[in-house]
Amino acid sequence: DTLPSSSAAAAPTTGIAPSLDAFWMPFTPNRKFKQSPRLIVGGEGLHYDLADGRRVLDAIAGLWCVNAGHRNPRISAAMKAQIDVLDYASNFQIGHPAAFELAQRLARFAPEGMNHVFFTNSGSESVDTALKIALAYHRARGDAGRYRLIGRERAYHGVGFGGISVGGIGRQRSTFGPLLNGVDHLPHTHDLVRNAFSRGEPEHGIDKADALEALLALHDASTVAAVIVEPVAGSTGVLPPPRGYLKRLREICDRHGVLLIFDEVITGFGRLGANFAADLFGVTPDIITAAKGLTNGAVPMGAVLMRDAIHDAFMQGSVGAIELSHGYTYSGHPLACAAAMATLDAYTEDGLIAQAAALSPFFEDAIHGLRGLPGVIDIRNTGLLGGIELQAWADGPGTHAQAVAQQCVELGVLVRSVGDTIALSPPLTIGREHIEQIVDALRTAIAQTARPTDKEA
Ligand code: PLP
Repeated sequence: DTLPSSSAAAAPTTGIAPSLDAFWMPFTPNRKFKQSPRLIVGGEGLHYDLADGRRVLDAIAGLWCVNAGHRNPRISAAMKAQIDVLDYASNFQIGHPAAFELAQRLARFAPEGMNHVFFTNSGSESVDTALKIALAYHRARGDAGRYRLIGRERAYHGVGFGGISVGGIGRQRSTFGPLLNGVDHLPHTHDLVRNAFSRGEPEHGIDKADALEALLALHDASTVAAVIVEPVAGSTGVLPPPRGYLKRLREICDRHGVLLIFDEVITGFGRLGANFAADLFGVTPDIITAAKGLTNGAVPMGAVLMRDAIHDAFMQGSVGAIELSHGYTYSGHPLACAAAMATLDAYTEDGLIAQAAALSPFFEDAIHGLRGLPGVIDIRNTGLLGGIELQAWADGPGTHAQAVAQQCVELGVLVRSVGDTIALSPPLTIGREHIEQIVDALRTAIAQTARPTDKEA
């Protein structure tokens, strides 16, 4: 297989179309994809340019990350300027100013009292770093008996061994055999019977948080180090938390000395119309994991933000000792720091987060307008994050949403299928007319792909 000739613009400068064979694509059915590859060769603002010359509206912000729009001029300029001054410097026992400056800015951007930041290169690394910090924190305080971690069903926390251990997606765990010891899971909060077509936080399900009390009793609370949840589960279908649920998790954790970690890799940086989900829901965790929107996807970077008390617990003993035996060659990479600072400028000085908050009610009304179409069994939203769940087809999980997503591309809109849910996560720079374009494409695609068995909810 080689690339189709229409994608010559994307071919390397040799002019020879590259074979598709060598690249083992992540989270992709490689053989199927390579039979009819779809390639993106350019991007600007809200749009992607496809290899066949078409331009599509990017309703998923790349992969939930390009919140400030593609090739945002502020971010491109900052990266170009940085690369001409300093390409790389380690932060192991030497440093460079941009990493310190960015950390300080993130501390200001984060919820009150979270003034310390550890840099990583991805969401997966942020999750594994956060879990390690949680375990080491208890040890640093002389409480080494706290070793258990609690995740949740239907959680996605990236692909590190820590992340898949606390994650709640069966296939991503069973492929690899034994994972971390001492991990248990809360029940997921998705409830189509009680909560279908909820707007924002569903009314029912705070009781699902009480399962934490039960798990703590089961395992002995004094053995539990941390609980990790996505405030809104993203990759498993866009599942906003039931009203009061996160607050109750916080109360239970506080009662038992267990740390609460919010995985905000998707929900951070304006996606929900606030800096973080923690701000939107008024619940401050002990640790926040971030990535994606941190640099607008322009270069890999992740971050772990933590409450002062967590950081301070490590700053004891000999001042000559390394406080945490952990870090990456590219922790706080200069190019990523420059991109992240320019991205923060876009979110704050250009008012993108405020813009997202202002547009959220319109987005909510627009996507809920799809209710009543054949096969649409639920619609969910928070901020500029939306999910439209479709009735599963008999020929396999996910096939319905894949068919609709495929048809949307034909109609000029790129959406993402996650299981049988269509996920929407457009750049925060989106306007009303583009939201209408997305919803119109979905309405048409759902009608065009409908099967006689698809029921109206
Ligand atoms: N955590 C959450 C909540 C995510 O949604 C993702 C990615 O989608 C990750 C972690 C992993 O991030 P990465 O793919 O950058 O490793």
